[in-house]
Amino acid sequence: FESFFGGGGQRRSRGRGSDIRIKLRLTFKEIAQGIEKKIKIKRFVVAPGAQFITCPTCQGQGQVSTVQNTILGHMRSTSVCPHCEGSGKRIGNRPPESGPDGMIKKEETIKVKVPAGVEEGNYMTLNGQGNEDIWKNPGDLIIMFVEGDHEYFVRDGENVLLEVAVSYPTAVLGGKIEIPTVDGKAWLKIPAGIQSGQVLRLKGKGFPRLRSRSNGDQLVKIQVETPTKLSRSAKKLIESLEKDLGPVQKPFSKIDL
Ligand SMILES: [Zn+2]
Repeated sequence: FESFFGGGGQRRSRGRGSDIRIKLRLTFKEIAQGIEKKIKIKRFVVAPGAQFITCPTCQGQGQVSTVQNTILGHMRSTSVCPHCEGSGKRIGNRPPESGPDGMIKKEETIKVKVPAGVEEGNYMTLNGQGNEDIWKNPGDLIIMFVEGDHEYFVRDGENVLLEVAVSYPTAVLGGKIEIPTVDGKAWLKIPAGIQSGQVLRLKGKGFPRLRSRSNGDQLVKIQVETPTKLSRSAKKLIESLEKDLGPVQKPFSKIDL
């Protein structure tokens, strides 16, 4: 049984072994597509052949009480048994390969099916894949998802942000350019006359929404690239273009802070 949580949540904690928490790093591509990963974990399990006896110190109660004589009379206080840490059991027959508590560390390979669209901080609980207690009741395995950094994509919820440089002629005339998305390449139509800073939206090219069939978008911020290395002939063309175009249309505007 496995369950998925976005964060938070209360968990039972008594009567079983401890939970194991691990981090699982995912690339944007893995998050976009969902992935089944094999991970290796080490969990404590009861060593084969280990036998436990009733703790002689507390007679299996898990706690001990002491009586002190004070000026106010007898004072009885109860505390966790120091010899069995409250379990009421102690190791009887201990296999040589096990620790003093009768447990061994066992390496296991576990398949984790990561749903598409998870985010940093989301976690998945695999019930019963944690450490065993001496009664072989296992805790849970809790897998925290960690997003790896991407070379140029930025995630904003389900949306993906990307800045794309276009050439001056493409910005003026418009065109089609091929750009990367989290799920492969896509064509982006550049409308004629686009300005630096304008944002184009590629619908449905963002991350999948969890438990949904819809996707976010990819938002593409356009930067018009000013050529810096000009051939002699290109320089001539630009100079004649400048004469042809005349002064800029809107020289001043207020900065949007
Ligand atoms: Zn005890």
